Amino acid sequence: MANKKRAIAVRGSGIISHMCAIMLDRSGYEVLHITSGTPLQNDSFFAITPSAIDWLRSIGFPESFFDSIHEIRKMDLLNVPANEKYSFDADELFIDNLAFMVKQKDFICALTSINPTSIKSVSVNDVACTANHDHVNCVSNSQSIEASLLVVCDAEDEEISSGGFGRIIKHYDQEALTFSFHSKEGRFDCASQYFFEDSILALLPLDQGEVGVVWSCNSELKSLLSVLTPEAFKSYFEERINKKFTVDSALDPKKSFNLKSKSLDHVFNKRILAIGDAAHIIHPLAGQGLNLGLRDIRAIELLLSQGKVKDAGNKNFLRKYERMRKKDVSQLSFLTDSLSNTVHNNYCIHKLNKHSSTPKAISSILNNRLLKKHIVNQATQ
Ligand SMILES: Cc1cc2nc3c(=O)[nH]c(=O)nc-3n(C[C@H](O)[C@H](O)[C@H](O)COP(=O)(O)OP(=O)(O)OC[C@H]3O[C@@H](n4cnc5c(N)ncnc54)[C@H](O)[C@@H]3O)c2cc1C
Repeated sequence: MANKKRAIAVRGSGIISHMCAIMLDRSGYEVLHITSGTPLQNDSFFAITPSAIDWLRSIGFPESFFDSIHEIRKMDLLNVPANEKYSFDADELFIDNLAFMVKQKDFICALTSINPTSIKSVSVNDVACTANHDHVNCVSNSQSIEASLLVVCDAEDEEISSGGFGRIIKHYDQEALTFSFHSKEGRFDCASQYFFEDSILALLPLDQGEVGVVWSCNSELKSLLSVLTPEAFKSYFEERINKKFTVDSALDPKKSFNLKSKSLDHVFNKRILAIGDAAHIIHPLAGQGLNLGLRDIRAIELLLSQGKVKDAGNKNFLRKYERMRKKDVSQLSFLTDSLSNTVHNNYCIHKLNKHSSTPKAISSILNNRLLKKHIVNQATQ
């Protein structure tokens, strides 16, 4: 490399690892991407913040990607048991938009179209990495590369579970069903989040005529839904969304995720740095997991651009990064954790108990200034 900066290794196969490799390449580093290949395509979707969209433009995402994304200008948060509604409107907040819905396949298509040839990709099965005091040794059959830093990105990376990072996992006993449906009528620039006592249901318009659903259910509701016929499931779902959109196609709620959160006491250990889902997993109710990972990458990019960074793997650099990211990650973890805790098991008991504290708990969190500030910050920063 002309600038003699040392190589940085990135390990992972998801979107975050590929975006991180692209950013490092653009920042002038020699990049060794240790991966299983391009991210596997699926029919999932993400809410992406406006500032992340701007960043994707800045790193060279093609125009066709920006044509494929769908603008969200309004967000309704509905506390169903208390019959309360909280709305965020881009116009009232004097901002252009609150979020954009992106289909995973469009994201991957854009990402692979950039494909810098200067990134050296090697199979995850062929390389072993060992972090030493002043470098990370990445050894394959054919060669050995000294990297200043190893960035691990995927949630399942075993390096993170093996001590040194202080990993804390919390299982929510909730399952998220995700699916989409066609709709002829509804407000397609408005996302909605329903807070029930047994679940949190997000309606996310993906374009003019298609709506994505993330329905985080407690185990009782999940069991109830799993025995319904497709027709009964559709009627039950229609009842829950209360005519917000017409449901003009069959529903296929086959895809589900067991929900958990993950945090680390330290995001780095020696010269290994965890970012994205390797570093933090939050409840999907805020639609922020991928956004957090993209902000991790942007933070590294910013730090690398400040002054002359001789060694991106040294403790000072990694400490600066950790400090920079701590508040954002911990605030979002706290907010999503508090909101997800309002979904209870044994909700039948809560239904019978007129003094259930759940509606009040939801209200107090939705009234929290932190939530509003966060939504506006994410849209404008
Ligand atoms: C129900 C739900 C809804 C969500 N909604 C949102 C949202 O709206 N907005 C948002 O910002 N975040 C959202 N998230 C979080 C988001 O999905 C994750 O944070 C994000 O996908 C992490 O991206 P990643 O690149 O780190 O890992 P992933 O996309 O999870 O990919 C990493 C994993 O994929 C596998 N993999 C990928 N490619 C390959 C390959 N070629 N070969 C073998 N294995 C492969 C590997 O197992 C790897 O560990 C949601 C999460 C859930 C569960």
